[in-house]
Amino acid sequence: MPEHHIAHPMLMDYAAGSMAQPVAMLIATHVALCPECRAEVSRFEAIGGALLDQIEPAALTDGSFDVALARLDAPYEPHPAATRPVSVHSVNHALLSDIAVLPEPLRSAITQSPARLSWRRRGIGLQEIVLPSGNPTIRASLLKISPGASMPVHTHGGTELTLVLAGAFRDAAGHYQRGDVTLADRNINHRPVADEQDECLCFAVVDGGIRLTGIFGRIANPMLRL
Ligand SMILES: [Zn+2]
Repeated sequence: MPEHHIAHPMLMDYAAGSMAQPVAMLIATHVALCPECRAEVSRFEAIGGALLDQIEPAALTDGSFDVALARLDAPYEPHPAATRPVSVHSVNHALLSDIAVLPEPLRSAITQSPARLSWRRRGIGLQEIVLPSGNPTIRASLLKISPGASMPVHTHGGTELTLVLAGAFRDAAGHYQRGDVTLADRNINHRPVADEQDECLCFAVVDGGIRLTGIFGRIANPMLRL
């Protein structure tokens, strides 16, 4: 069970469908692994639905509260924005075993893509697959850190949201395992070191500005420093 979660303002933005595709994909993948955040998203969707119903006067007599309650019990479906296939350019053999451990909906997005992927070396003990994000300011990638290796101290000036897919890493703020999420910006000394036992596979989304957050996230941005 994940211990490091998506902050509520970001979950609200996700539920409202206002996240850019790669961010929505990352959140959907965490939510799929995390019953706690899944319940929160259902709650936010129900509240959003009830608010929309109240905008239409006819719906007020129509049991909108019951509808909202029913939505709370509905099975979790990733937000449509999250399930658009990631368009990628090459798949090589070494990646196939990595895909097997990917949680949904990330795995489907990658395997259903007609394109191919491959790992690129990014220094000692670090490999990366860059996924076209559809947005020039957002870099979405899979990262693979060798056992015991560290990611270099980040030189980008933006906000980085990282989801652990396999293995685990540690940084100044804590220990992160499959399903855990960490949000870092340039004010945080973010230097993940993979656990010694296994390689660590992560999905990371980096933005040069603060565009990882939607409307609610921007309002509450200072609180997002997990
Ligand atoms: Zn969670």
